[in-house]
Amino acid sequence: MTLLRIENLDIRYGQFRAVRDLSLEIGQGEVVALIGANGAGKTTLLRTLAGAHRAEAGTVHFKGENLTGLRAHERLARGLALVPEGRRLFAEMTVTENLLLGATSGRPGDWTVERVFQTFPNLVKRRHARASGLSGGEQQATAIGRALMANPDFLILDEVSLGLSPLVIDQVYRSLDGILASGTTILLVEQDLSRAMRTASRALCMLEGRIVLDRPMAATNRDEITQAYFGLTRSQRGHA
Ligand code: ATP
Repeated sequence: MTLLRIENLDIRYGQFRAVRDLSLEIGQGEVVALIGANGAGKTTLLRTLAGAHRAEAGTVHFKGENLTGLRAHERLARGLALVPEGRRLFAEMTVTENLLLGATSGRPGDWTVERVFQTFPNLVKRRHARASGLSGGEQQATAIGRALMANPDFLILDEVSLGLSPLVIDQVYRSLDGILASGTTILLVEQDLSRAMRTASRALCMLEGRIVLDRPMAATNRDEITQAYFGLTRSQRGHA
């Protein structure tokens, strides 16, 4: 079943078209990696889906409903949650308080503060600590936990690895395994191609605001994704 349907989406900053006539569908239960160089338009697309930025043209349907005109909290209430690049926690609030904020959408489901702590055990001893005092990995876990507290049907993760050590990235992804296994639909931006290929079932490559590759992960490979990432044509590849 199609969960998200994007049609002819155009997103601008002034005259600059950051996302150009982009169309795609994501089905229930898919784990999709969005891959692309800096400036390709990934964050712009994700923020627009979540309602943090307004599209210039085109439509986004979620569970059959047109989201145009709906604000971020209204999209969250419908089950679409974004873990933004840079985490954006409330610095002066504790871990638990940040998590509880995620529940204010009032969506029914299994996620509780305790379940977040089971998923991210490193947060347990930090539950009363202010977000500003957390390590990068603890902040990221809190940001993901906050999104999960909304019991999302569709979880959007923007560069969860950014600024974390390889060890901590492993921890975060290990915690995500259970979420992946639970059937939550996920769209994630991940710069580490090996990890993206291991985690996702489908690869979407963006270049200059457009999707240039859309394949099941099992039907593509590192070479093809890298070529799409750099925008190389078939003849350029031959000379590479
Ligand atoms: P990164 O990996 O660097 O985050 P990205 O693929 O997420 O890259 P975006 O951040 O979506 O790319 O940026 C897409 C384009 O839009 C870039 O050319 C960027 O310079 C431009 N852009 C992003 N935010 C703004 C803004 N607030 N004002 C003007 N231009 C912007």
